[in-house]
Amino acid sequence: MNQIEENIAKIKSRIKKASNDAVRNPNEIKLLLATKTVEPQNILCALSTGVILIGENKAQELKNKFEKLQNTPHQTHFIGHLQTNKIQEVIKYVDCIQSVDSFKLAAKIQSRLELENKTIDIFIQINTSFEESKFGISPSLAIKFAQSIRRLDRLNIKGLMTIGTFSAEKEKTRKCFQLLKQLQLQLLDKNIPVEELSMGMSNDLEIAIEEGATIIRVGTAIFGKRPYPDSFYWNEKK
Ligand SMILES: *Cc1c(COP(=O)(O)O)cnc(C)c1O
Repeated sequence: MNQIEENIAKIKSRIKKASNDAVRNPNEIKLLLATKTVEPQNILCALSTGVILIGENKAQELKNKFEKLQNTPHQTHFIGHLQTNKIQEVIKYVDCIQSVDSFKLAAKIQSRLELENKTIDIFIQINTSFEESKFGISPSLAIKFAQSIRRLDRLNIKGLMTIGTFSAEKEKTRKCFQLLKQLQLQLLDKNIPVEELSMGMSNDLEIAIEEGATIIRVGTAIFGKRPYPDSFYWNEKK
């Protein structure tokens, strides 16, 4: 086994253990490879283990990776902040946009999809940490937001996504994930089909699984450290 395969095996056993602890079926939890900055050959190696979901953050990385990976079954989710001028490029290459975080963005995706006569799966990104630098819909506006984008018929709402706060205090991160779960229940109650909960990364996936994650997004623990801090890839607000 090479390093990537070994790391994936470790993640799978972490998923298994966390699911057991939470009395959940590990098959309910999908692993998404967070592949920003990762070379296509390393992504191919990871896909060869049977993982099928990858998540990308930057529009400019999509085309090259699409070309290199197109003969290997996989699905690409967009998980970075999406600028409206990149919509056209992004919808060419992705199956799902997990980072819908404003009405303006949602409406522009809808318009573009109408022109192309396509539809796309989306998640609503929620700012559960209340950090001003983070993107995402404010939790108090989530229901109103979901109800308003529901009218955009080219967008298939599939779930909610969040980035938990990075804190040494696990309970702070847990609060973020609990909040996302609560919002999911409220939205399901209003018949908005947010079945998927995308939460949990290399350092906090156990907490996310305990709190109900259905998709965890893992990068560093599989591919190693990235060249820049995450704020660079997230285009954090100033
Ligand atoms: C990079 C990234 C991840 C993965 O983070 P790691 O800590 O490297 O596992 C998850 N979600 C998003 C939105 C990311 O940008």
